[in-house]
Amino acid sequence: MSSPVPHTVLNNGVPIPQLGFGVYQVPPDQTVEAVSTALAAGYRHIDTAAMYGNERQVGEAIARSGIDPSDIFVTSKLSNAHHAFDAALAAFDRTEARLGLGRVDLFLIHWPLAMLSDYLETWRALERVAGEGRARAIGVSNFQTEHLQRLLAGSEIVPAVNQIECHPYLTQEPLRSFGAEHGIVTEAWSPIAQGAVLGDPVVTGIAASRERTPAQVVLRWHLQLGNVVFPKSVTPERVRENFALFDFELSAPEMAAISALNRDERTGPDPDHFDMVPG
Ligand code: NAD
Repeated sequence: MSSPVPHTVLNNGVPIPQLGFGVYQVPPDQTVEAVSTALAAGYRHIDTAAMYGNERQVGEAIARSGIDPSDIFVTSKLSNAHHAFDAALAAFDRTEARLGLGRVDLFLIHWPLAMLSDYLETWRALERVAGEGRARAIGVSNFQTEHLQRLLAGSEIVPAVNQIECHPYLTQEPLRSFGAEHGIVTEAWSPIAQGAVLGDPVVTGIAASRERTPAQVVLRWHLQLGNVVFPKSVTPERVRENFALFDFELSAPEMAAISALNRDERTGPDPDHFDMVPG
């Protein structure tokens, strides 16, 4: 099956499907089924994390799917409990083993945790696994501009992505622009703000006039901005709905109207203050 999903080329030449499937808050005992549904719907990019507790089940769904594993792009992330060089190397080994794919396509520092650890030291471990070819690309998540500036000044490899909360109520224009200037692709987490933007009259108005759902309109807005997205759902109809984004295009005024909804409103934690470390 040829995929309708365009690829974004990362700064080291590795292509990533611009649309994927996220498994945050998918319980491990529902993950094989959810990922199987997504793969059957055509998704070829899965976003997981050590802290989601479902890496093993993501690998299992891929193994059971009958799809060539090298056709599926898998991202995982370092747990907040394993910052620092040796701990991060050992954590990568465990992620690689749990996924069971023989490689990790993209491995991220999940949170900078700047008040507790030195993410520069942690980044050296990611540079090591990238140098060894075990991670095809490495990146960061929840990094603010200051964190990126410090990383760029003090390390060898420019992160391939910065995965940040981003949706019409938090458009992240300055951080997205900084990334674009430095070859760092923005990945938008909570792309529909966990549903919070779907009742907005601007979104529902465009959806009605286009005969699309509000989720499709918001996801399409992300794609046209150049963001990589991986909406999450365990409802098969929504999983398929969120994939049907490639047979319509928003106009420039529609794009501008959605972008104008920005009010710098987070649904998740602020990276400058987030210090949660799993016990
Ligand atoms: P999301 O914006 O994708 O929203 C998910 C929720 O929206 C679902 O639980 C469902 O209730 C609802 N939904 C999904 N599709 C819908 C549809 N078509 N119509 C109506 N409602 C719908 O939020 P998310 O799960 O927080 O984010 C997506 C992914 O981003 C995660 O699964 C994870 O992979 C990643 N993420 C990363 C971080 C990070 O710190 N790096 C944090 C949060 C999420």
